[in-house]
Amino acid sequence: CGVIGIYSKTDVNKKLFYGLNSLQHRGQESAGMVVYDGAKNKVEKRMGLVNDIFGSEELNRLDGTVGIGHVRYSTAGGSFKYNVQPLTAISRGREVALAHNGNLINHQILRTRLEEDGMMFQTAIDTEVLMFLLCRYLHDDIVEAVKKTMSMVQGAYSIVAMIDGKLVAFRDPNGFRPLVIGETDDGDVVVASENAPLEIIGVSHMRDMAPGEIIVIDDNGITTHRYESDEPRRHCIFEYVYFARDDATVDDINAYMFRRRCGEILSHEAAVEADLVVPVPDSGTPAAIGYAQESGIPFAIGLAKNRYMGRTFIKPTDEERRLAVKMKLNPLGTVLKDKRIIIVDDSIVRGTTSANLIARMKEAGAKEVHMRVVSPPVEYPCYYGINTPNRRNLIAANYTIEEMREKIGADSLAFISMEGMIEASQKPGDIFCKACFNGDYPVDPILL
Ligand code: 5GP
Ligand code: SF4
Ligand code: MG
Repeated sequence: CGVIGIYSKTDVNKKLFYGLNSLQHRGQESAGMVVYDGAKNKVEKRMGLVNDIFGSEELNRLDGTVGIGHVRYSTAGGSFKYNVQPLTAISRGREVALAHNGNLINHQILRTRLEEDGMMFQTAIDTEVLMFLLCRYLHDDIVEAVKKTMSMVQGAYSIVAMIDGKLVAFRDPNGFRPLVIGETDDGDVVVASENAPLEIIGVSHMRDMAPGEIIVIDDNGITTHRYESDEPRRHCIFEYVYFARDDATVDDINAYMFRRRCGEILSHEAAVEADLVVPVPDSGTPAAIGYAQESGIPFAIGLAKNRYMGRTFIKPTDEERRLAVKMKLNPLGTVLKDKRIIIVDDSIVRGTTSANLIARMKEAGAKEVHMRVVSPPVEYPCYYGINTPNRRNLIAANYTIEEMREKIGADSLAFISMEGMIEASQKPGDIFCKACFNGDYPVDPILL
């Protein structure tokens, strides 16, 4: 998911709209905005894309100088209307709104306990549990309420919230999901999942919120607090592999440069003779550029992409996923014919994309297709906010690399090593969560 919050002296509706639009890649199922008009919260949220939901009528209704927004991609709780964020509530007369990126691992246990106490939930999402706890603990001191909430919930959460028109943001102690904050010359404060919204709105300086940091913004300015914890930093490395946009620089790593360096490193780890390096657009493009420039093999566009389809991987059935890949990517016979091709993608999850593409590239005349993947095999599910299927459906959890090569129909198949991927980050490896690759979960999942 993607979250944004803006505190200003003028209307925030348009800025929220621009900001949410540049977070669209983080979730395409639904979107919503809540603004505070000085007395109460106003909400617009629906299934669909930001551009389709917010026309001038909706935006005009959302007048107010503080607001938050959310784009959703579902992890806990299905893709239904009642699960759309931000969530809103009135608690002891206070107007509360909240948007969440991440996934709590203990939400089921907390929910059951709360239900036994008589609480009735209106959504199926983990976020509502967090929202409920925040409201329950919310007396005078917002920071105390956030700290109590943080002591109850486990897992991944980057949150922007609004309480009686104060903007509140906090990040889990591991720092799984990104969250950046910045200020414009006019004194507007913007908090968002990535830096692009801040750059578009025009902040003059920005920084990452620290893991465990709590920020409250009101007319007196910004105050920052710390949730005490000995949890280590564990940024999701998959943000850099795939999830964040190429222009994201979060937790001091630029996604484009990371991807490019992964391609360079893989060109040494898994060299092969070929005529062209072809990316699977868009997620494989920076890595393919790195692979091509480093190996000296020419880069080429060998797949035409339908840009109006969005991210395809969360389609519910195999058949739909196959059809989606087909509609989304079509081989360029004129480029591929009689050529030995290196195809570069960011990851193999189920194997649907690569099997389908390689078969169709060969039909289009490619002589050889060598698959190069710039992340290690995904062998374990994610419990912290990325929608990987369970192990049964993860191709790398069930087959050897040679078996996978055969299944996807490649002439050769290689993945970057874990060491190579860490090297590309230019950071020490222990600051990352890498659990989907190595099963080493920073916070133990609770499997009911
Ligand atoms: P596959 O077809 O192997 O299941 O998916 C691989 C493709 O899906 C890659 O091109 C990758 O860009 C994309 N992908 C990225 N993130 C995810 C994710 O969280 N889940 C899934 N299933 N696919 C993803
Ligand atoms: Fe990211 Fe993988 Fe960790 Fe999930 S398990 S937070 S996708 S690195
Ligand atoms: Mg892709």
